[in-house]
Amino acid sequence: MADYSIRSRQESTESLDSSSAVTSEDYSDDDKEKDGYDIEDFHIIKTIGTGTFGRVVLCKNKETDEYGAMKILCLADVIRLKQVEHVKNEKNILQEIRHPFVVNMLWCDRDESCIYMLFEYVCGGELFSYLRNAGRFTSSTGNFYSSEIVSALEYLHSKSIVYRDLKPENLLLDKDGHLKITDFGFAKKLSDRTWTLCGTPEYLAPEIIQSKGHNKAVDWWALGVLIYEMLAGYPPFYDDNPFGIYEKILSGKIEWPKHLDTVAKDLIKKLLVQDRTKRLGNMKSGAEDIKRHRWFKGIDWHEVYMRKLTPPFVPKIMYDGDSSNFDDYPEADWKSSRTLEESELKLFENF
Ligand code: AMP
Repeated sequence: MADYSIRSRQESTESLDSSSAVTSEDYSDDDKEKDGYDIEDFHIIKTIGTGTFGRVVLCKNKETDEYGAMKILCLADVIRLKQVEHVKNEKNILQEIRHPFVVNMLWCDRDESCIYMLFEYVCGGELFSYLRNAGRFTSSTGNFYSSEIVSALEYLHSKSIVYRDLKPENLLLDKDGHLKITDFGFAKKLSDRTWTLCGTPEYLAPEIIQSKGHNKAVDWWALGVLIYEMLAGYPPFYDDNPFGIYEKILSGKIEWPKHLDTVAKDLIKKLLVQDRTKRLGNMKSGAEDIKRHRWFKGIDWHEVYMRKLTPPFVPKIMYDGDSSNFDDYPEADWKSSRTLEESELKLFENF
């Protein structure tokens, strides 16, 4: 059995195809986030997260003393890793959405070397850390987090946005213990189906691996994986290498821990259905089928949206700007990252 007590999971990955191209309708002229700030308006305190081609730093507004989380992406790396369209998708989608369980982007800009995205600082750290500390969650804890996720995914899907990277590393706890989904780097506004292979191996739906094209059903598959992982302490399909994971996903075989809540198991089974036309959440009644499942019996979905459910963990925060709920990361001199050539900058013209 793989050791899931450590951060053993691979980073989200992708292999590109042409279908990730952004269409003109994805752009909005309403660049409200462009106004207001300059990177020099912030003290950069420390790195609280890293991704494949960027970092997230805790920062403080020099004038207002307010804390924020600044995602800094070096343009040269974005180009080298062929992430230009993904970054544009991320920004356009973040500009469009507002929901209690989605991290709120406050400002976005770029200069000749970096992109800067300012978010509210979500100080409780990743759900991943709470899950690894606890080993596994009780049913009621798993139920709380999955209700907030269902609420957020239903909202995103109602805007034709598929999130595509659901996992405990991308779920942060706010100061009260409610969830905030972060990292919209793989999110996409759908026209119909989309074919890019991206995401984290353990959470990939069969239709992504088989390149059949995929839609919002992939998020409901990932919800099944997440509920399983929360209640078991490890994901349903794992192996030391991604191809082993893909084989297991496609085999359709799932081992069930004896202790697993039988009602949760029923829901997970209905989410981890290979045929996406029969997958809960992706049929005629959409997310309603999930919300009406017995595992959510007694849940008032309006109360969920209003953040009225009582969170199972309240993060320990000693002072404003406390970053002790995040791991330490080596700092890097992103300020001296390469300035782009004129021709390369054209790729970010509308940014
Ligand atoms: P991302 O590249 O968006 O996945 O962010 C990488 C990591 O940075 C996340 O997994 C979080 O640990 C951290 N992070 C991202 N956004 C925020 C935020 N708004 N507040 C606090 N931490 C964040």
